Amino acid sequence: MLQYLTKLRSNEVAALDRKKTIVVLPIAAHEQHGKHLPIGTDTLILEGVIQSFEKNVPAQMDVLVLPTIAVGKSNEHMSFCGTLTYSLDTLIAMLRDMAKSVARHGFEKFVMLNAHGGNTDVLNAVARDMRDDYGLRPFVIDWWFTDFWADLMKDIQQSPRDGVFHACELETSLIMALHPELVDREACIDSYPPEQMRKNRFVTVFGPVNMGWVTADISKTGVIGAATKATPEKGRMMLDYAGKKLVGIFEEIQAIPSL
Ligand SMILES: [Zn+2]
Repeated sequence: MLQYLTKLRSNEVAALDRKKTIVVLPIAAHEQHGKHLPIGTDTLILEGVIQSFEKNVPAQMDVLVLPTIAVGKSNEHMSFCGTLTYSLDTLIAMLRDMAKSVARHGFEKFVMLNAHGGNTDVLNAVARDMRDDYGLRPFVIDWWFTDFWADLMKDIQQSPRDGVFHACELETSLIMALHPELVDREACIDSYPPEQMRKNRFVTVFGPVNMGWVTADISKTGVIGAATKATPEKGRMMLDYAGKKLVGIFEEIQAIPSL
């Protein structure tokens, strides 16, 4: 069963099997997504994915979802109006405080479920500290720097590799499925990083040499990818796929023994 902390009473939380319950901290962003998608795209997608997961959670699995951290580390987008960002230090402090609170109440398995690529390095870095400092078993689920979407995208992606990056075929499809009224379809464009950043062997936006890029280095429009290839049908497939994929991931987390 999946429950939201926001809706529970203290005595109900205390009654949970706290060694077994998997606590989930959703973390997203509020940042520009071109002219066709809303600032809160990552947050809206994450909420949609969690709702899909909720529909698929097996009866014998206990999941407790914390309130979403709806702003992330988005300083790469700050030259575009509307973007909000936490500094690195602020985000680390917030993540540590959330982990400490959860550990204080005797929970152990702590999943950080991330919807924004700019957060990923931070989450991976603080995860080990959470284990060492608070005795938690932390996990980072990230869909930007892993093969999370790969099994589906190999069948449905119509753009080249860079077509799924930011305000792209993937994100636009998901918002079309979740909140079609928030998509300006006339404004959907394809926009790719400069040739040099795509064709280099070493120094590219994907590495292996990290150049600490900001979005304005690689996109004048704020879009990186192929929004014109997005469809609501693909978005619905993505939501269904993500909900089921998370079940598989959480089953493995569930099977990892308590400390
Ligand atoms: Zn996004």
